Amino acid sequence: MKISQRAQKIAPSITLATSAKAKALKESGLDVLSLTVGEPDFTTPKNIGAAAKKAIDNGTASFYKPSAGIMELRQAIIERTKKDYGLTYHQNQVMVTEGAKFATFCLFQVLLDAGDEVLIPTPYWVSYSEQVKLAQGKSVFVGGKEANGYKVTVEELEAARTTKTQALLLNSPCNPTGAVYTTEELQKIGEWAVAHDIVILSDDIYGKLVYNKNKFTPIATLSEKIRKQTIIINGVSKSYSMTGWRIGYVLGDEQIIQAMIAFASQSTSNCAAVSQYAAVEALTGTQETVEEMRQAFENRLNTIYPKFSALPGFKLTKPQGAFYLFPNIRETLTLCGYEHVTDWVQDLLEEVQVAVVTGEGFGAPDNIRISYATDLETLEKAVARMKTFIESKI
Ligand code: PLP
Repeated sequence: MKISQRAQKIAPSITLATSAKAKALKESGLDVLSLTVGEPDFTTPKNIGAAAKKAIDNGTASFYKPSAGIMELRQAIIERTKKDYGLTYHQNQVMVTEGAKFATFCLFQVLLDAGDEVLIPTPYWVSYSEQVKLAQGKSVFVGGKEANGYKVTVEELEAARTTKTQALLLNSPCNPTGAVYTTEELQKIGEWAVAHDIVILSDDIYGKLVYNKNKFTPIATLSEKIRKQTIIINGVSKSYSMTGWRIGYVLGDEQIIQAMIAFASQSTSNCAAVSQYAAVEALTGTQETVEEMRQAFENRLNTIYPKFSALPGFKLTKPQGAFYLFPNIRETLTLCGYEHVTDWVQDLLEEVQVAVVTGEGFGAPDNIRISYATDLETLEKAVARMKTFIESKI
């Protein structure tokens, strides 16, 4: 049977593939420590589950819903954004999506014509570039300097801009680096985007997961002009530990949002109704659990960061947000006698049963991504095994 050219070009998500492999090995009886997944290990807070049960029991979850999302959830998103960002959006500027992942997918579909360019600072979340490809667009990667926490500057962006540049993908806090852009950095980037009419796609999904007094500034808050130029992408997966519920959302320019809703009406129809009722409770109910989970991540980061940093050859700046470490291990590879990260990662899994993700899919072939969205005991064991592994090769 024929597979389309378009489908043939798509690389499956490397993070999902690696975590599936680790899981399969674990299920076969091996004591695998998986540091691969990009999801909190906490179960969804009880009040959120209770709201979902209620929507099932009273029958409201049984039926089709508007493609834009249920009105209650759009209102909850508007109120949460008002509280957290101080910005006001109207119902017709908001859409609920199947996770933030479908938000970016759908955005590229409505924003890009064949050959249109999207600036993507590297390292970047693996799905952006594949989604751009699916929309027949072109990803233009802009390398952030390691010494600048991999963050890009306006000068670097300007050097990559062409007449075809449509959008800039900004992800702060960043997956995989954990870097958080400062207000000053964002101000410059925002003004530059306004000046050149480049749409800012601001993926704020880790906005609530910032540690050690670092501060998350949403770029949309920096001026009215910048807000108009920005589409905010957010969701409940990471902050509310709701990855399985598949609820994300976008806020911004009405025309773009309405085009996305039309796209969804012919593809997904609507997000699962039960998940939408759960998300209403997540956004409007107690926010204490969000802070409890944030503190747990902060505690893990502060405990394990010095230990991973001390591994021979690991070059690692302390992340400010999200829940990943992203060390450059080029020196470790040399010490261990490897050329490619992939081989090192493969042997790490086979020899000491620790699973991490290679940096290749994130646009950083000298790095590995270690997720600390897992309990401290597992993390401590993993770092000890990695030490043993490296020392056995030197
Ligand atoms: N954006 C970033 C940077 C992510 O890391 C992820 C998930 O890993 C997503 C978006 C998508 O999240 P979801 O589709 O679960 O809302």
